[in-house]
Amino acid sequence: MNLTPREILGQYYGYENYRGQQEEIIDTAIEGKDSLVLMPTGGGKSLCYQIPALVRSGMGIVVSPLIALMQDQVTALQQLGINAAFLNSTLNQEEKQDIASRMNSGEIDLVYVAPERLMMDGTIQWLQRFNISLIAVDEAHCVSQWGHDFRKDYLGLGQLAEHFPDVPRMALTATATPRARADILHNLHLDDARTYISSFDRPNIRYSVASKQDAKSQLLNFLGEYKNSCGIVYCLSRKKVDSIAQWLAEKNFNALPYHAGMEDTERAKNQSRFLKEDAIIMVATIAFGMGIDKPDVRFVAHLDLPGSLESYYQETGRAGRDGLPSHAWMVYGLSDVVLRSQMLEKSDAAEEFKRNERSKLDALLGWCEITTCRRQPLLEYFDEKMDEPCQNCDNCLNPPTTWNATEAAQKLLSCVYRTGQRFGAMHVIDVLMGKTTDKVSQNQHDSISTFGVGKDLNPNQWRSVVRQLIVRGFLLSDAERFGALRLTEAARPLLKGEISLELRHEIKEKKHSRKSRVTTKVAEEDQRLWAALRACRNRLADEHGIAPYMVFHDSTLMEILEQQPTRESELLHINGVGETKLDKFGDDFIEVVKDYLDD
Ligand code: ADP
Ligand code: ZN
Repeated sequence: MNLTPREILGQYYGYENYRGQQEEIIDTAIEGKDSLVLMPTGGGKSLCYQIPALVRSGMGIVVSPLIALMQDQVTALQQLGINAAFLNSTLNQEEKQDIASRMNSGEIDLVYVAPERLMMDGTIQWLQRFNISLIAVDEAHCVSQWGHDFRKDYLGLGQLAEHFPDVPRMALTATATPRARADILHNLHLDDARTYISSFDRPNIRYSVASKQDAKSQLLNFLGEYKNSCGIVYCLSRKKVDSIAQWLAEKNFNALPYHAGMEDTERAKNQSRFLKEDAIIMVATIAFGMGIDKPDVRFVAHLDLPGSLESYYQETGRAGRDGLPSHAWMVYGLSDVVLRSQMLEKSDAAEEFKRNERSKLDALLGWCEITTCRRQPLLEYFDEKMDEPCQNCDNCLNPPTTWNATEAAQKLLSCVYRTGQRFGAMHVIDVLMGKTTDKVSQNQHDSISTFGVGKDLNPNQWRSVVRQLIVRGFLLSDAERFGALRLTEAARPLLKGEISLELRHEIKEKKHSRKSRVTTKVAEEDQRLWAALRACRNRLADEHGIAPYMVFHDSTLMEILEQQPTRESELLHINGVGETKLDKFGDDFIEVVKDYLDD
């Protein structure tokens, strides 16, 4: 292609400017040098390898583990006028031959390949016969054994260095921990690669964590703000996914389940509906999400605690790729703390691995409980410093207050001690509340000194105290003994009154109000044009058999709404409108705007 990178950016993608470090990254690859690109989800990684692959002569190879999404990625590129194809196990013989012959005649600019396909006998030798412009390894953190996305096939990708010594390679990932970084450079033999680290801040995502009271009604209240939006609800177990999805459907939400225990076709169908329709809620385990590049996911809700701060960041990162306001919302409670610790202790992983996981869990729990800005420590976890509080998280917007919980903590710790450190939170709280349950009677806990001394708080408040004491290391929930509470060394000075303790008040979530809305804002007077533009997008998507966002993203539609272009030249100025899309869809949208203005 005899175009400059900037010309490609404008004519194919319809963008006027690069974002962040895109230009430097692209130039490095065009010069033939290797690189490692760390950019958050939605940061714009795809352009970084697509543009140099188009500028350099030959065909670009993109290694990606996301077989189920390759078709969509290729379709989206074709909409931009870029000749792309993919090779993976889903193709039949005929399709394979067709792609091979298009590759032979030099028609393909970019080919997506699954790692296991690439590692098959003879594939690399076959690809060596082509003129290769660049090799991109997407989701490169999959080479790291320490991450949760480790793929064995990825380890083989180190060979590419010797088989394609003159081809620039680029590894890309949204996982930024120093450990993953080092693993990628080492395992992919990227010895002289330049590393590009973008800011991992996602300013358009609002973070909120609420204490779990009645998770279902809390979710319902939250979803009230997102009537016609797309979102993901994460749950820990398959069973819970099924039941929440069903329950939401009964409440008239467009909700679908997704987990690894489902039948393949059903799961694939749900994923494709999520990608194609514009108001669907996916209720899923973490089996869902990697590589989902649907731009208009407005919220990610966690009904259970994620595995680590890092997973939390990845999972919530699937919201708001289009840069519009989005919400990462979580409810979390004592049961999550206990469950997660139990899962960890009971797993038969190596001790070193467990220790590593334990400290990750502690970091996450600490983060849930903080009373200051959530974004600052989240970014710090990725080695990034943010000077000012963000003003777009629950703690910034609605600062929590604390209370002096020294006396309450002493009562609780002493009650745990006097009941023999053999019981879980529920029983201990019953004793504090002075309830004569069977268990209390059997153990004669109604005769100990802490029986009934805790009536000044309600059971929910006590649960909050227990949770915060565990997270702060005064109490342990013993996984070996079904979550029995035990005192730690740190509890001693607290019991003796040598230190005092401030705990956070649980904040009652507000009923959703107009003020707190973070959905895409369309003014009342613009609603009619907005609806017409969306209808036009849906119709075109239908006609071309593609997802609405592949016609135009919401952000592009918003600009059309604001600028009301009535000529092709005006439409071309809008972000996200390139020449191919202008030809295909331009007239239809101009028609819609004109009709609106004529009325
Ligand atoms: P990533 O792969 O890093 O998650 P993508 O490459 O999918 O992100 O890009 C995220 C979104 O940003 C996409 O909608 C993409 O079209 C858009 N985008 C990327 N680069 C630019 C740019 N220079 N200007 C405007 N939008 C961009
Ligand atoms: Zn904040």
